[in-house]
Amino acid sequence: MVKCEYVDNCSFFNEKMKGLPSVVTMMKEIFCEKDNQGCARYQLRKKILEGYTLPEDDTLHMGETFVGNLEAMIENLYPNDHEKLQRIMIHLIK
Ligand code: SF4
Repeated sequence: MVKCEYVDNCSFFNEKMKGLPSVVTMMKEIFCEKDNQGCARYQLRKKILEGYTLPEDDTLHMGETFVGNLEAMIENLYPNDHEKLQRIMIHLIK
């Protein structure tokens, strides 16, 4: 069992995100305490650290919703937002 290295600065872990799901405690146990590799926020953070970015103006529109740059996208991801993560990932370039 390995605690995620980002717990100190993670808005999900510290419950500073708006509209947190009622299952936040369970999600913290699953992802933050045991399987950070499976966390969508963690996976996107790792991509940024590996040098991935978005083309041109570093912003991305997904459907009708303006999402913003990658840092902003992390702030809008829940650990189990894997479908949303995949929609972001296909736009990443190095
Ligand atoms: S939500 Fe994800 S990135 Fe944040 S502390 Fe938990 S596992 Fe790490």
